[in-house]
Amino acid sequence: MKNTRIGFIGLGNMGYHMATHLANNEHSLVIYDVRREVLDSFEQDVQAEDILKAHSPQEVADEAEIILASLPTPQVVREVVLGERGVIHGKKVKTYIDLSTSGQKVTSEVGLALQGRGITMLDSPVSGGVPGAQKGSLSLMVAGSREAYERSLTLLEHIGKKIFYVGDEVGQAQVIKVINNLLSSAALAITSEAMVLGVKAGLDPNIMIDILNASSGRNSATEDKFKKSIINRRFDYGFKTDLAYKDIKFCLDLADDLEVPMWLGSQVEHFWRFAMSQGAKNQDYTTIIRYFEQWAGVQVGNEIDQKS
Ligand code: NAD
Repeated sequence: MKNTRIGFIGLGNMGYHMATHLANNEHSLVIYDVRREVLDSFEQDVQAEDILKAHSPQEVADEAEIILASLPTPQVVREVVLGERGVIHGKKVKTYIDLSTSGQKVTSEVGLALQGRGITMLDSPVSGGVPGAQKGSLSLMVAGSREAYERSLTLLEHIGKKIFYVGDEVGQAQVIKVINNLLSSAALAITSEAMVLGVKAGLDPNIMIDILNASSGRNSATEDKFKKSIINRRFDYGFKTDLAYKDIKFCLDLADDLEVPMWLGSQVEHFWRFAMSQGAKNQDYTTIIRYFEQWAGVQVGNEIDQKS
């Protein structure tokens, strides 16, 4: 596969690093993003010899048999794949691997449309955040044809270390991904609330996190986010509030469709909806702690606290 040109669409917080791993593993690439400046900086950063910069998703699909995409919303995924200059119109593409979190509905719709043109889709959302994308250690959950999955595994191993095959129905990987994200956003919110309480009661936040990480209260926020991006007030984890909210909504919409009660999940969704209404949309999702801090009149950590 090394001599095959790989397409990559969407070089944002996650995609940039994933595409970098492919280039560093000697893949020639054809890349596309609506932000042209990101294509130029990618070319300079990776210094790989063979990188083409496309002007549309279709142009990527004219050049590459396999395309990976990491895109923000289902609307963008639909446009990139099925739009007027979308992947579906490309001459060369045979496999489209979607690394985005786009929910089950649009993912299935896009998968079916591609299938109608003889293009195989793998639904492959990722978890592990920007640090995982940087290290190439993401976890990937993949649904779609097993044969296409096995064929693509070597490629996927450049970006992920824990790769799970979910099943042959495109869209099923989205189900476990949005369940995962409901849990991880719930963990961030409840840990923020609890950390604010501890600081209000006079505890040192770094000591609290050390204790939680050695105890039964540990979770992805205590292990990964507090020391990296919150206690030092950097708020640079790399995931925007609106993208986190989108994933929680996918999960609650799924529960709605299946008529499954979500007492606690709906509280989590409501909190994040509140954050969205307060202007947090384009901010890093770790900033949600600020609401709990304002209500309690304390701050968890400070700028000079660079322990991480
Ligand atoms: P991002 O907004 O940083 O990146 C998205 C990229 O897509 C941007 O570079 C943007 O310019 C590009 N784009 C937008 N519209 C486009 C179009 N029409 N054509 C081509 N490119 C277009 O988002 P991200 O944080 O990198 O997340 C990407 C996906 O991965 C999302 O679905 C997100 O939910 C998921 N995800 C993110 C994280 C995280 O921690 N950031 C973790 C796991 C999964």
